[in-house]
Amino acid sequence: MISQIIDEKSIRRLAELLDSSSKITVTCHQGPDGDAVGSSLAAMHVFTALGKEVRVVTPDGFLGQLRKLPGAKEIVDASRYPDFARQLLDEADLILCLDFNVASRTGKLADALLAARAPKVMIDHHLLPGDFAEVTISHPEMAATCVLMFRVFCRLELFSFIDKPAAECLLAGILTDTGNLSYNVADPELFTIVAELVRKGADKEALTRQLFMTTSAYCMRLNAYALLKKMELFPEDHAALIVLSREELNRFHYTKGDTEGLVNRPLEIPGIKYSCFLREERDMIKVSMRSLGDFPVNELCADHFGGGGHLNAAGGEFKGTLEECAELFRSLLPENTKKYRKQLN
Ligand code: 5GP
Ligand code: MN
Repeated sequence: MISQIIDEKSIRRLAELLDSSSKITVTCHQGPDGDAVGSSLAAMHVFTALGKEVRVVTPDGFLGQLRKLPGAKEIVDASRYPDFARQLLDEADLILCLDFNVASRTGKLADALLAARAPKVMIDHHLLPGDFAEVTISHPEMAATCVLMFRVFCRLELFSFIDKPAAECLLAGILTDTGNLSYNVADPELFTIVAELVRKGADKEALTRQLFMTTSAYCMRLNAYALLKKMELFPEDHAALIVLSREELNRFHYTKGDTEGLVNRPLEIPGIKYSCFLREERDMIKVSMRSLGDFPVNELCADHFGGGGHLNAAGGEFKGTLEECAELFRSLLPENTKKYRKQLN
């Protein structure tokens, strides 16, 4: 048995809304990851089995690794079919907002989402939930929205409706947000849920291969090149920097997602406490930072790189040249070392 964490009132209202609706549209955040796509598709599978007409709309496209998830081919990508996406939101009598906390996280879809007349239900695990939904089921202590979805299904007495495809989608989301069960796994109930999903037929080994061990030769070589030729280490300042120009990305036929995870790699080196990755885009420099312990990369990104984020994972958009941005990061090192002496030692 897993404990009940979702309040009774929200579950009751969600059950009423489900009862009185036949057309459900599910949506998630832009740049959808495994948790966003996994939770959305699981909702599609379970509520379809319940006799509902369910469509999933994503604000834009998602990574190739997710395309094999059961039902992924039926997803409507709003960046390719904006009118159809809008129509699905307009015509729904219930909208599920999964894995995001504020409407703006749906990017260009946000206006249509807010304008849609259907009641909205947010099910999410990000901090600081907004109040655009009629029902807000927000639990930042959950490792993934997929964990929360499993709990929602159980509370709605729909456990038996979680079939193999739904179980696979839920497990994909959990694996994505925990780095294949590496972090955010302190809650033992997470493993109870994973066990139930495996019992229902989800293949953890196949999902691990699909999500974490599938890449292209170009992508593999780009990452190897970045680490071999482009990683700058500043051991005295406990920092690392990787910079990739447009020309370098093109050389390795870069496509979206190819440098996912690269910024984390320098943190594997003992003594390196924060890491920065700069990628030259058409109209700005995409800044991505990660840290260990208490070093606040969100502060660094907010103060100097036009962004923000979380303590250990943040980013920003820098207006200027790639070299200016890299030089700014390098020039800040001594200052950071002084200012964050406690966090770095
Ligand atoms: P990533 O490095 O994966 O692109 O982003 C990590 C985290 O940093 C995101 O979850 C988000 O919270 C934050 N972040 C990334 N880019 C930006 C940005 O341009 N502006 C702000 N405010 N936060 C960002
Ligand atoms: Mn998530």
